[in-house]
Amino acid sequence: MQAEVRAESNKPETKRKFDVIIIGAGPAGYTAAIYTSRAKRETLVISGNLPGGQLMLTTDVENYPGFAEGIFGPELMIAMRKQAERIGTTIIDDEVVNVDFRHRPFKILTYSEEYEADAVIIATGASPRKIGVKGEQEFSAKGVSYCATCDGPFFKNQDLVVAGGGDSAMEEAIFLTKFAKSVHVVHRRDKLRASKIMQDRAFENNKIQFHWNSVIDEIKGNQKVNQITINNLKTNQKETLEAGGVFVAIGHDPNTKLFKGQIELDDQGYIILKNSTKTSVEGVFAAGDVHDHLYRQAVTAAGFGCMAAIDVDKYLSENKK
Ligand code: NAP
Repeated sequence: MQAEVRAESNKPETKRKFDVIIIGAGPAGYTAAIYTSRAKRETLVISGNLPGGQLMLTTDVENYPGFAEGIFGPELMIAMRKQAERIGTTIIDDEVVNVDFRHRPFKILTYSEEYEADAVIIATGASPRKIGVKGEQEFSAKGVSYCATCDGPFFKNQDLVVAGGGDSAMEEAIFLTKFAKSVHVVHRRDKLRASKIMQDRAFENNKIQFHWNSVIDEIKGNQKVNQITINNLKTNQKETLEAGGVFVAIGHDPNTKLFKGQIELDDQGYIILKNSTKTSVEGVFAAGDVHDHLYRQAVTAAGFGCMAAIDVDKYLSENKK
């Protein structure tokens, strides 16, 4: 799909050069767009293959401020998109296949078009790793979750399973004990990767039970998850756990493949920020989970989007010819 604008003659023409191009259309991308468009910067959002981002895959969102009764994830993202469009953002549902940040204006190539921008905000997010077992996709948002902070409160008094042995898994397991009857941590080795302090907290919590050297084999249910089969890798014994939910916490992969070699990334692929939202390339900024592996919340991503937009506006004022 191409971005179209009306020329003076009223004939549609393809616009390819923007003040700012935002790559990614989750809370960070849309918020950045709302701010840059309100600052009268011509803004293009290229949404990628999941317009709306991770919230399109969730159901109720209860922790985004402003919605007393909560809001459906996709509904929130559609509202953000409409808000950005109303303020003047151009949004195209296309995927970026290459970028060239060596010279300004920066070049961004999608499947169907090449665009140019004086500034870029990368808001491509991070994707939770999947365990890749039967039932995982089928019961996604029906008991399978990748965010305990987001979904934990919907699982009051239930038995739950957490997959993983890192800090996220321990944090999620501990958080879930506030609501759950019990939490089974399923970890593929006999040692946790998590920091000592998180391990200690998890071991001290009597609602948490560990299943060592084990992996989830299958997630079963009817309308929702109700059973998890786990497999002990040492003994090859299978065990069935009656549980209402599975929280997968085996890490995230930042969506930064496109930028490798062009901007500085850390050893896990997250964008390294220099000063506020600036990346290692002047004029290229980043916002949201693509650099933030700590908070990963819709509201923090939106906050970073706002910060990046303000930084871009200042940058353009100082640098635009
Ligand atoms: P992580 O440290 O990479 O841990 C991922 C865990 O998932 C590991 O235990 C790993 O097992 C397991 N795993 C990976 N792939 C798997 C698979 N296919 N099947 C089963 N298990 C699998 O990721 P994270 O816990 O999300 O943490 C990411 C970073 O954020 C870390 O640097 C962490 O310290 C930091 N963090 C810090 C805090 C905090 O300080 N409160 C909270 C959250 C995250 P193995 O151990 O066998 O590799």
